[in-house]
Amino acid sequence: MSIKEVLRYKTSCPSCGREEYNIVELIYEVPYLGKLLLSTGYCNSCGYRSYDTINLDVSSPIRIEVYVDSDDALNSLIVRGKKAIIKIPEFKVEITPGPFSEPYITTVEGILYRILEVLSACDESEERERCRRMIEDAIDGKISFTLILEDPTGRSTIIPKGNVKVKVYKLMEEGETLPEQ
Ligand SMILES: [Zn+2]
Repeated sequence: MSIKEVLRYKTSCPSCGREEYNIVELIYEVPYLGKLLLSTGYCNSCGYRSYDTINLDVSSPIRIEVYVDSDDALNSLIVRGKKAIIKIPEFKVEITPGPFSEPYITTVEGILYRILEVLSACDESEERERCRRMIEDAIDGKISFTLILEDPTGRSTIIPKGNVKVKVYKLMEEGETLPEQ
């Protein structure tokens, strides 16, 4: 993570109105999660403080796909932004983020274990049992599948291991895609 001071100035205080309000703006650059502008204010006269963050990287929606058919693919890194949806079409699995979802970094295998956890928390049914067996086979490398990350904020990425190929698409409209390169 890098931090850079970009601006420091004095202005009128939103609380007491005196020209004693000091503002410092910093840019934090967090790998894979983007640039944040942090603005802090402090009044020398009345002690009023403010604190604000603004996300500077307004990225476009993306879809990232990796075909998982090797140990390297299973061990590739997933950086999942907090708004990203994870899909495995072969297993009819979709993980949608909750309202308090935080970004996380894991591996493809780690995603499979997360799915197993969610499945074991659910009631038993034939469909879930079938899904559980497929996920366990996938962890053991017995079956291949496609892992898709769809992120409306463009903050997610897949970092491939070895010769694993990752496809990145910019999402235009809903359902319409355009290859990035
Ligand atoms: Zn003040």
